[in-house]
Amino acid sequence: MSIRILAIAEQKDGKLSNVSYELPTVAQKVGGELMTACLAENADALAAELVSRGGGKVLAISNPALKYYNDEVYTRVITELIKKYQPQLVIASATFYGKALMSRLAALNEGAMVSDITGVSADGDRVTISRPAYGGNVTMDVIGSDDKILFATVRPKVFNEASGDTGEVVAETVDSSLFDTRTTVKEMVVESGQSVNLMEADIIVSAGRGVRAPENVEMVKKLADALGAAFGASRAIVDADWTEYRHQVGQTGKTVNPKLYFAIGISGAIQHLVGMQSSKAIVAINRDKDAPIFKVATYGIVGDLFEIVPALIGKFEANK
Ligand SMILES: Cc1cc2nc3c(=O)[nH]c(=O)nc-3n(C[C@H](O)[C@H](O)[C@H](O)COP(=O)(O)OP(=O)(O)OC[C@H]3O[C@@H](n4cnc5c(N)ncnc54)[C@H](O)[C@@H]3O)c2cc1C
Repeated sequence: MSIRILAIAEQKDGKLSNVSYELPTVAQKVGGELMTACLAENADALAAELVSRGGGKVLAISNPALKYYNDEVYTRVITELIKKYQPQLVIASATFYGKALMSRLAALNEGAMVSDITGVSADGDRVTISRPAYGGNVTMDVIGSDDKILFATVRPKVFNEASGDTGEVVAETVDSSLFDTRTTVKEMVVESGQSVNLMEADIIVSAGRGVRAPENVEMVKKLADALGAAFGASRAIVDADWTEYRHQVGQTGKTVNPKLYFAIGISGAIQHLVGMQSSKAIVAINRDKDAPIFKVATYGIVGDLFEIVPALIGKFEANK
């Protein structure tokens, strides 16, 4: 019997987030029958796009109350889809919204919750999910049970974006009372200076205490701009108020998985490593050749960041 999978697509400002295209790849690995829930103010165009990106049967629900993510409304509406289509596995990206939504859905539907997954397989209709544990030092395999729906958030950037359009759009309607809510999101305001989203970035350039002073953080940001990269930070410089918490990578910050991660003046404490060590390639710049960051680095540059970073900026800007 084929496993029924419900993926929850994520949209912001009426545009699909790239992480939504990674979910069909997870479904392909399970080998199941994929449905994708697409909730938006106007879901039709987004749903058609999802079909063209391997989303399978795309369940489109349009309503002004779905313009912005809202815990209460999204949980109720998706629970209706779960009742109707009876999926065995429900997946969403392990983003800010995906994490909030899936824990609620799992509780409301008395399911089993697995967060931040990095691997998945199936044997018959039994799903096995892999996720990092103990700060990424071990990988845990979680096996689904027969009597509970498995809810899983998928770590962004681990699975490739899918393609292929063998699906269809199904316009869904749900009872209008589901859109009644005690809270209304009226507006979303993007923080100034936030150009590239850390969790979706292909390249991240991060600064640590080695930059010595807040004004030098700008130099590292300039390198990020030259590469079209997102700017990240160690906790040391967040705690020192040299940059905002939203940039923090690590155990108490964000877990990232870019193609390329620059660690500049970062020692490589375990709490930082757990947030970035699964990056595809890591470049470490540190003047201490024994710094722990070099143990996980693909390329290491031992030297003074105040010489190396300006030289890199010059090179990358010249090649723009
Ligand atoms: C519960 C808990 C949670 C934590 N969560 C996080 C987290 O989420 N993220 C996180 O990052 N940390 C976290 N930490 C803190 C973590 O333990 C480290 O203290 C922190 O990561 C250190 O930051 P750093 O590498 O920038 O600074 P440091 O450890 O001080 O390292 C600075 C590095 O810069 C190098 N350097 C200095 N000058 C230069 C120069 N001119 N050129 C080149 N290199 C230079 C030094 O050799 C050194 O290796 C957490 C700690 C705890 C206890």
